Amino acid sequence: MNIILFGPQGSGKGTQADLLVEKYKLYHLSMGDELRKEIKKGTPLGKKISKIVNRGDLVPSKITNNISLKISKRKECKNGIIFDGYPRSMEQWIFLKNNFKIGATIEIILSEKESVRRIASRRVCPKCGHNYNTIWLKPKISRYCDIDHAKLIHREDDKPLEIKRRLKIYHTQTEPLKKEYKKQKILYTINGARPIKLVNNEIVKILKNIYK
Ligand SMILES: [Zn+2]
Repeated sequence: MNIILFGPQGSGKGTQADLLVEKYKLYHLSMGDELRKEIKKGTPLGKKISKIVNRGDLVPSKITNNISLKISKRKECKNGIIFDGYPRSMEQWIFLKNNFKIGATIEIILSEKESVRRIASRRVCPKCGHNYNTIWLKPKISRYCDIDHAKLIHREDDKPLEIKRRLKIYHTQTEPLKKEYKKQKILYTINGARPIKLVNNEIVKILKNIYK
């Protein structure tokens, strides 16, 4: 089974992808992670991607499409792929649907208010990189890392104005794709404001119906 999983920042889509990987032995193809891996390897392609990303530009579809095709040939993908952070444009979607049988596109929806609440409460340790959350994953001593006692920071990316800016980009990119998915009758929306387990149950139910 190949599915596209998408949702705004804070929707918990990464956690849901992990649960689906465990249950169905799918490959979680997070395009952001794959691009970072390519950069880290320092290949000619990686260097090219790094230049584009550093300029603040979007990585061209030609590159992301090639990466997804290359990965899909690996044996970890034999049970299927969860596409995450991809497609981002109509060009990418057309490529994807021409090369893969996509059974479902699942959007985990979350209000802007809840997205901001979830992300703006993130804190990170500058020393060890450990993540905390002022609502549900508080450090033992307020504002200090449990592991090395460094003072936690609130990253600029995790501040409300920046979150809202990224949400706007997300919606601009996603709306035209959602129309396409709807036309193809493969769009499913799930309310992401509920507990992880309930969201997961609902996704499993949808997949069960499709892959009977
Ligand atoms: Zn730390």
